[in-house]
Amino acid sequence: MSTRKSRCLVRGSINIDEFFHVNEIVRPGETISPHELERRAGGKGANQAVAVCKAGCEVYLVGAVGDDGRWVVGYLNGVGVNVDGIAVVQEPTGRAIIQLAKDGENCIILHKGANYASLPSSNIPLLSTFTHLLLQNEIPFEETVDYLSGAHGSGVATIFNPSPMLSDQQIQTFPWEKLTWLVVNAGEAEHLHGKLANISAGPEFETAQKEPSRPAMSTTDHAMHLLELLQRQLPLTVNIVCTLGPVGVIALLPGLPKPGAATPLHIPAAKLRGPVLDTTGAGDCFTGYLVAGLMELYEAGASIYSGENAFRCLRRAVEAAGLCVQRRGAMDSIPLRNEVENSQ
Ligand code: ADP
Repeated sequence: MSTRKSRCLVRGSINIDEFFHVNEIVRPGETISPHELERRAGGKGANQAVAVCKAGCEVYLVGAVGDDGRWVVGYLNGVGVNVDGIAVVQEPTGRAIIQLAKDGENCIILHKGANYASLPSSNIPLLSTFTHLLLQNEIPFEETVDYLSGAHGSGVATIFNPSPMLSDQQIQTFPWEKLTWLVVNAGEAEHLHGKLANISAGPEFETAQKEPSRPAMSTTDHAMHLLELLQRQLPLTVNIVCTLGPVGVIALLPGLPKPGAATPLHIPAAKLRGPVLDTTGAGDCFTGYLVAGLMELYEAGASIYSGENAFRCLRRAVEAAGLCVQRRGAMDSIPLRNEVENSQ
């Protein structure tokens, strides 16, 4: 039995989310008052760090807040995230102003704030002391690429959730070969596939494109087909995981022994005991739990590509996301590891 210790570095965003509950979204020239105002800690970097932590793994978050965000750092620290790498800078904390209408419609203004500030060099950790690097796309692109390159050079497993999606230009210049895991939702997968098709349509892809489209493809079949096309556009070393809301998750792991390599794994969504209350943060919960699963396999000296490991790891992350959608909030709704285990 190995005694390796895994440590995850998250370089990402930290926000203050302000929810204004209104009857209808405000129209141009109009002034309205919300009937409720809620303020919560948010940001995809912070959400995913909390998920890794609640899953029971060690996580170190590098990011920045303004003076107004000290309480968020306190919250993250209270959950168990290592906050030594969070700088307090001149700029205000990243802020999302969210109008939530009665019919469920929302409208968001996102101020990037401190997430785009340059960090003092004392906040840059030694990448080689980590085993996993988890990135989203709510910080400067150059920063994401720098961290990815550094981690790849140090043999650290890299996980990227390109949300919000990269620009067309960034898709072209992104060092995909340095990525171990790509985690996307259905819309992101479709967008990425479309953009990569314009730049890297090789003969194999063109053949696939000419396949007659199947008339009655279910969502799952459609997604599987799409991901197979996407896989051909990316280096073969990249594991692709695509979340499909209530349909669950599809994963294409090229390292699985054949014939598994050619077969996408489909993990159906968790069976819910209650109604869906809020899907905010479900993707972040899934991603954090997936990374925690990878970290545990690393510590056990086990491979994701052997036996039932991949299925079990994905299954637990899906179960965690299922609990998350039955609760309100983003960070607060991420379940603890024992809650996930008891529900499986
Ligand atoms: P994102 O919020 O990033 O777009 P998804 O909507 O795909 O991500 O949701 C992430 C995961 O959360 C899904 O793969 C699924 O496991 C779970 N999930 C989301 N919506 C539901 C739902 N209505 N019922 C059950 N599970 C869900």
